[in-house]
Amino acid sequence: MTKTQHSYEAVIIGGGIIGCGIAYELSRRGVRTAVIEKNVGAGEGSTSASSAIIRFTYSTYSAVAMAYEGLRYWENWQDYIQKKDGGATPSFHQCGMFAVKSKQVHYLKSLPHFDQIGIPYEHWGINEIRNRIPSFDSRIFGPPSRPSDDAFWDEPTELMEGGLFTPEAGYISDPRLAAQNLHYAAEQKKCSFYFKSEVEQILTENNKVQGVKLADGTKVDAPIVINAAGPYSGTINAMADVLDDMSIKTRPLRQEVCVVPSPEDLDFEKMGMAIADDDVGIYLRPETGNNILVGGTEPECDPLRWVPADHQGEIDPEQWEAQVLRLNRRIPSAGVPHQKLGVVGVYDVSDDWSPIYDATSLEGFYVAIGTSGNQFKNAPIAAHCMAELVLAVESGYDHETKPLVVTGPHTNLKIDMGTFRRNRPINPNSPMSVHG
Ligand SMILES: Cc1cc2nc3c(=O)[nH]c(=O)nc-3n(C[C@H](O)[C@H](O)[C@H](O)COP(=O)(O)OP(=O)(O)OC[C@H]3O[C@@H](n4cnc5c(N)ncnc54)[C@H](O)[C@@H]3O)c2cc1C
Repeated sequence: MTKTQHSYEAVIIGGGIIGCGIAYELSRRGVRTAVIEKNVGAGEGSTSASSAIIRFTYSTYSAVAMAYEGLRYWENWQDYIQKKDGGATPSFHQCGMFAVKSKQVHYLKSLPHFDQIGIPYEHWGINEIRNRIPSFDSRIFGPPSRPSDDAFWDEPTELMEGGLFTPEAGYISDPRLAAQNLHYAAEQKKCSFYFKSEVEQILTENNKVQGVKLADGTKVDAPIVINAAGPYSGTINAMADVLDDMSIKTRPLRQEVCVVPSPEDLDFEKMGMAIADDDVGIYLRPETGNNILVGGTEPECDPLRWVPADHQGEIDPEQWEAQVLRLNRRIPSAGVPHQKLGVVGVYDVSDDWSPIYDATSLEGFYVAIGTSGNQFKNAPIAAHCMAELVLAVESGYDHETKPLVVTGPHTNLKIDMGTFRRNRPINPNSPMSVHG
């Protein structure tokens, strides 16, 4: 039985960084919007586990342009969210990112786009990296293996070529707080938030979306519904019956991030930077309290662990040890602490590890999904692009035959939304992994 009925111009399913971002961008444009979130607050889902690294190393022009435009939002966060009351906001630590020139050569795919856009970068030799992190072992250990494999312990014979340093990269101290900031900013623009509310059904009529029905029977009417449900994106798409028309699918993948203290000979919080290291299969960044955060880059030797979207597993001691021992190959003084601290999160992975920002075969139903462990950084610009896309399509723009091109408000870079379509060919240059 239907309990109560509400009515909006747009409903967003999911109050993570993506949903809250779109809510803010639509509300700023005067669209009467509501966010439905089953958790108690904003950013409690996969956003809360994010390493929140801000980097630009992607393999397509539009993805690099989006990340570089996204940087400007984080540099101007207070202005962007129009915060007036002096409440808490996360910090942007612009420590730079060093990508090891590994045999996997993913970094090479970004360079033509960096050159075209004008993104500053430096080629570092062994000496530069040793100056910044004296305890860094610059030998080639790869291809990555597991500690249970003898090859893991082989003494390397070659030095790495060096690496690529992007000085404007960095990380956001508190990703959940960033989502809360967007929640607050959207509310200031009259957006409504329904927490502890779960969407159970997508309402449709004559292949047009009509709204959503919640688990408690409440009906929320809206001619526009946006799926920003993170790892639950596939479940919501199934409810909307749009999967047959999507050649790129999404599914939840377990991911864990370890946190270990910096070794005594290294103040990583002060001197460190984000590091993408495909040679050993990890990424790093400084973490508050002079710690090192260690994520995995999905090397071939690590089985991918597909899980249900509500997966909330504990730290897996074997995986934790693998990642921390890999860190020890690179920074031998790091050590292996007794206490296994870290975070278990879930990525919403698309078939080519690129997001889907698109309309669908169901009129009025849009998706901002498949963020594949790498779209925290892009949330504000992706939200801008989604708002432009929704309003263009609703005004009759034919995005299906002529994909919309959005101009970045800070950089004037052109972002071709065709890159993020649900029916794109698989990106052949995708590394099928992430560095945060
Ligand atoms: C461990 C980890 C490390 C990462 N590191 C980085 C990084 O360094 N840099 C980077 O850029 N990105 C990173 N990411 C990726 C980034 O965090 C995600 O892309 C981003 O947070 C996804 O946000 P979201 O809003 O789509 O999803 P979520 O934050 O998961 O939000 C989706 C929300 O939808 C809600 N929901 C789902 N179904 C329903 C329903 N039926 N009804 C109501 N609500 C529903 C959920 O409760 C959830 O709160 C990382 C992710 C993880 C997990």
